[in-house]
Amino acid sequence: MEEVKAERVGIMGGTFDPIHYGHLVAAETAREAFSLDKIIFVPAGIPYFKEKTTPARHRYLMTLLAIMSNPYFEISRVDLDRGGVTYTVDTLTDLKKGLPSETKMYFITGADAILEIQNWKSPGEVLSMAEFIAATRPGYSLENLSRALGPLAAEFQERIHILEMPPMGISSTEVRQRLAKGRSVRYLLPETVITYIHNEGLYGTSQAR
Ligand code: NAP
Repeated sequence: MEEVKAERVGIMGGTFDPIHYGHLVAAETAREAFSLDKIIFVPAGIPYFKEKTTPARHRYLMTLLAIMSNPYFEISRVDLDRGGVTYTVDTLTDLKKGLPSETKMYFITGADAILEIQNWKSPGEVLSMAEFIAATRPGYSLENLSRALGPLAAEFQERIHILEMPPMGISSTEVRQRLAKGRSVRYLLPETVITYIHNEGLYGTSQAR
């Protein structure tokens, strides 16, 4: 009987407020670098420790618009549908239920977020369920990673991989600030997402562009 190859699935967790080309390039770069079969984008419900974010339904729809042209990209509502604060241990547990048991999961997120992992809920369980891909901005140094991992370093450091991103330097914060000031965000995020933002009047925009 032919052996079935275990799927390698990237899990792209983030607030995506809003999603931009930096996120999309990170996902595509990770897909190639780690031979991933697909990437599932998972917009956080209520992100941990963030006071004010755009309602989850908008962040979900903007993410959907941004990924739909890539056949390797999917989106999941697990963090929205569970409700409450999003903890990655719950994200991975829920996603695992819908995947074949032999699937290898790779959680892709920003390096800054991973530096805080020791303070996440059940970090050992999280790092056992998925390997981590830390997307770094140009010039970012992850020398601090083993210090940040603390007692988890010995067991789990090998399960965290650093992925250098092409130098784009886009951030959601900058996109939000530009929108609020009425400045152009063209070429920082997909046109479909920009249109959605203006139609919904998000980030202090009005319909006039
Ligand atoms: P964040 O702290 O807002 O982001 C930290 C940095 O990473 C920012 O520079 C951000 O850039 C970047 N980033 C975020 N998601 C990324 C992605 N998927 N790919 C590349 N860069 C990314 O992080 P967050 O968005 O709130 O959380 C990231 C993920 O970690 C989420 O899935 C969240 O649920 C999880 N998390 C879990 C816990 C927990 O379990 N307790 C705690 C914190 C975070 P932009 O601002 O441009 O996006």
